[in-house]
Amino acid sequence: MTDSDFPSHHDVLVLGGGVAGCVLAARLSADTDRSVCLVEAGPDYGPDSPNWPQTMLDARVLPRDEVWETEPAPHRIRAKVLGGSSCINGCWHTWGSEQDHAGWAARGGPDWSAAGLEPFRQVAVERMRLRAIPDAELSVWSSGALAAAAELGYPEVADLAAPGVGPGYGCPPVNAIGDLRWNAAFAYLNPARDRPNLSILSGTTVHRLIVRAGVVQGVEVDQGGTPRTLTADTYILTAGAYGSPAVLLRSGIGPADHLSELGVPVEVDLPAVGSNLTDHPCLVLPLTPTAELNAALARKEAAGELYASQVALKAASELCPEGGWDLHLLPTAGPPLFGSLPPGEYEVGIAAFLMSPLSRGSLRLRSADPDVPVDIDLALFTDPDGRDLAVARDGLRLAAELAASSALKSWATPAAGGDPAALGDDELRSRAGTYWHPVGTCAMGTGDDAVVDPEGRVRGVANLRVVDASILPTVPAANTQLPVLAVAELLAERLIRG
Ligand SMILES: Cc1cc2nc3c(=O)[nH]c(=O)nc-3n(C[C@H](O)[C@H](O)[C@H](O)COP(=O)(O)OP(=O)(O)OC[C@H]3O[C@@H](n4cnc5c(N)ncnc54)[C@H](O)[C@@H]3O)c2cc1C
Repeated sequence: MTDSDFPSHHDVLVLGGGVAGCVLAARLSADTDRSVCLVEAGPDYGPDSPNWPQTMLDARVLPRDEVWETEPAPHRIRAKVLGGSSCINGCWHTWGSEQDHAGWAARGGPDWSAAGLEPFRQVAVERMRLRAIPDAELSVWSSGALAAAAELGYPEVADLAAPGVGPGYGCPPVNAIGDLRWNAAFAYLNPARDRPNLSILSGTTVHRLIVRAGVVQGVEVDQGGTPRTLTADTYILTAGAYGSPAVLLRSGIGPADHLSELGVPVEVDLPAVGSNLTDHPCLVLPLTPTAELNAALARKEAAGELYASQVALKAASELCPEGGWDLHLLPTAGPPLFGSLPPGEYEVGIAAFLMSPLSRGSLRLRSADPDVPVDIDLALFTDPDGRDLAVARDGLRLAAELAASSALKSWATPAAGGDPAALGDDELRSRAGTYWHPVGTCAMGTGDDAVVDPEGRVRGVANLRVVDASILPTVPAANTQLPVLAVAELLAERLIRG
């Protein structure tokens, strides 16, 4: 089909071809009477893995190709490729607590509870081909970490991606076939690509929606340098926790004062757009590997079997409510995430992630010009009472306990520079990383702090929905890909049912 033949009107436009966008496009196009067009800014490498860049297929590494960020922003990168961040992420899966989902259900009704999401979680587990990690794949550091957790009395958890599982340790299942990263484009679009009613427009960036009197009239896109307007009966924004609020703001949907400052005409005054940004902050206990550990890791790497992290421990800080967990501790050992080391040397440490942070950041436009990067303020460790920092310090203490276990201490020793848990607040803040799990910038709910209703419909706009990580009202105590997949499955189903 040539560009001029391409229909500019569809029943549904899905705007953003990431994790949620792939689910929506696949589910909605299953009805051949519905024409669906999936629009993605990045490239489409197609259904066959040999056509993909090798790094994006390798589940052992976190690739940095095909990302939006043009300036160094290691803790808030996101992918720009069909398949979205599932093409560059860690492939790990865990699931949140009953309380996380009870909080969502209080805002969205029973479908948003753990029980309501369960059938959709199960479908996603199957589609993404989650698999367990066999013992043979473990590095000596990972095996040691499992033994260390047992030594400290933590319970073993068979499936960290299952619901109703409390604190404990295990190897999170991964969406990989062998070491092939099974991304959302493979999982959801491959079975749908041949449908005549599904079009995929890659290399096409959404600039803004044209909104008049509370109805979207069209969407302005840039298709490889050519401006176009596409139209649909229903528009579904799936551009992710940073992309979706940015498109809404450029379209005049957001806080009126912010839009007015930028000269963007206000179509719908929705103060919550771009606020409530939440991610899991991280602090690392660095360790110095012994020569034996370096040698064992080198052998594993030479065999093509080295994953930097394979073990997660759901742990409770002193401030955590009884029976829950508010930390993920990840013992890691592999090539450095940032920077480089001489051959045969590896970066070893235990990362402590805050799984229920109170701090909230925001996303704002610097300009109405879509080519100007947005202003993302994660505001990690800024909650007024300093609870997040207190939990993080305790996480570092628990990480040090793990490192001092008899199962791990013979493999690595505390790195020079003292105990990070004893560092001042500002120094700890400056060392903060993230789990790359941003959510919340178009929160679901029914009150003034919501952008979308429990169906994903944007408040005040008739034919517009948002379905992606941005609508999760709080970050669950889990990695976010599986929750996003489950929510996308749920809302696709609800849209289909009408
Ligand atoms: C480095 C990294 C590691 C991670 N590791 C894990 C992990 O191990 N386990 C886990 O569960 N989660 C992990 N995550 C998080 C997980 O990948 C995200 O929660 C998930 O991808 C969110 O899905 P989404 O659909 O909201 O956004 P995305 O998957 O990011 O998709 C958004 C899509 O929209 C497109 N887009 C954005 N703006 C526009 C526009 N204006 N026009 C057109 N297209 C646009 C983007 O290019 C992208 O393809 C990781 C994330 C990163 C970045």
